[in-house]
Amino acid sequence: METISLKLELLNPTKAKKEMYKEMTNINTSFANWLLEYQGLKDATSKVYKLFSDGKFPSAIVNQTIREVKSKKNNQKAKVFRRFWCGFNNQNLKVEKENNLYKVSFPTLEKRVGVPVVIETYQTHWLDKVLEGKAKQGAAELYEKKGRWYVSISISFEPKIPKFESIKPPIMGIDVGLNYLAVAMVGTTSLFFKGNEAAFIRRKYASKRRVLGQNKKLDAIRKSKNKESQWMKELNHVISRKIVNFALENGVRLIRMEDLTGIRKTAKSKKEAGRNLHSWAQYQLQTFIEYKAKMEGMEVQYVNPYNTSQMCKCGYVDKNNRNRHLFQCGKCGYKSHADVNAGLNISKCVSGISKKKKAS
Ligand SMILES: [Zn+2]
Repeated sequence: METISLKLELLNPTKAKKEMYKEMTNINTSFANWLLEYQGLKDATSKVYKLFSDGKFPSAIVNQTIREVKSKKNNQKAKVFRRFWCGFNNQNLKVEKENNLYKVSFPTLEKRVGVPVVIETYQTHWLDKVLEGKAKQGAAELYEKKGRWYVSISISFEPKIPKFESIKPPIMGIDVGLNYLAVAMVGTTSLFFKGNEAAFIRRKYASKRRVLGQNKKLDAIRKSKNKESQWMKELNHVISRKIVNFALENGVRLIRMEDLTGIRKTAKSKKEAGRNLHSWAQYQLQTFIEYKAKMEGMEVQYVNPYNTSQMCKCGYVDKNNRNRHLFQCGKCGYKSHADVNAGLNISKCVSGISKKKKAS
């Protein structure tokens, strides 16, 4: 069973709603701290709330808090909870879909509310799985961060176990980089994601920040950085989804990617060091590919990156084999797109499985 946590922002809650969520959190925090000291915690049911307060509080939250305090008391030495967000089990917080709009409904101090949520493209995939019964919704939590309210929902799913087949299923190799954000190879079939548009947009953000820097507009710089990483994240979600779909169409059971952690440390040239600035985005893309692939029951491996861009399929290794986008073997004359060749070498795992980085 694999579990992920989905964070959904509540769409424009009114001031009154925000105040109520805050009040619920305050009550729940006091109640959780009271429970820590309560002698009968072991056998507590929702009825103990009456011992704590005369006020009304949704029994769904009471039950969840009792459950969580029990397990937290056993697992850690929590003396006092600074804040205890309201939690709900899957019966009490429900995900709903109406005309392609997603809502969550849960009990509050007043009544049950159904609130629309802000959805990122990739999240619809998960919510639909929950609604179709293909993934299981676990506990959820109502929390606040920087004035915005969210619900986080844990979702677990059974990765499909690949069946044994007599024919070896094809292996996909994925090269992530700058000129091409990703090149995915299955046999001789390839899928390219060009990097020039992304590079253009990132340059625009960078030059805008230079101007802001000259004017010492630190707040605006931070906002611009957030906007850029949000934009990159969306793009990585789209690319990773397309790659995993491409893998599914081709019957892939195993995806291989390079372990890029070593490259970061051993950057030898300025150009290579420039790669580091982009490494977080590449790392994020690999992470997204990995979890989406696993959700479809595929296996993911990280391979050592040495020689992947310099080795020919005849086995000859030479750094002169590669000249920017072109790969041409100095021994047998084989010609190919450099990233396609690298993708193939990654799928063949020419330098072995990485010992440092394992698929999580
Ligand atoms: Zn060759």
